[in-house]
Amino acid sequence: MAKGRDKHKAKQEAVHALGRGLNRRAKSHCELCADSASLKVVEISGSPFEEPDEQWALMICARCEGLLAGQEEPANTLRFLETAVWSEVQPVQVQAVRLIRLVDAVWARDCTESLYLDPEVEALI
Ligand SMILES: [Zn+2]
Repeated sequence: MAKGRDKHKAKQEAVHALGRGLNRRAKSHCELCADSASLKVVEISGSPFEEPDEQWALMICARCEGLLAGQEEPANTLRFLETAVWSEVQPVQVQAVRLIRLVDAVWARDCTESLYLDPEVEALI
């Protein structure tokens, strides 16, 4: 069992180690909602890599971490996604599109319809 725990710990440390680069990219703000409180690095699902990678990680706030974990929030508090889906940072765009497609609101559907995604990005959603 110790081995699994060590592996988990090593993985956590590797994710944490991405923080420096991500902090520069995120300019010390949540990459989804631009909040600057309690930021942390999280991996997004779907990475083809064994090791944590900046292209599959986000620096986000505690609230957005909850959203990624499936926590539901009123649609009208999620309008920051309208900006995030246009991000040129691939993992930000991928995760924002994943989230906005779950939002049941007219603005979210309008935004999704007007959004052009490269086929390579669409394949990652
Ligand atoms: Zn956030």
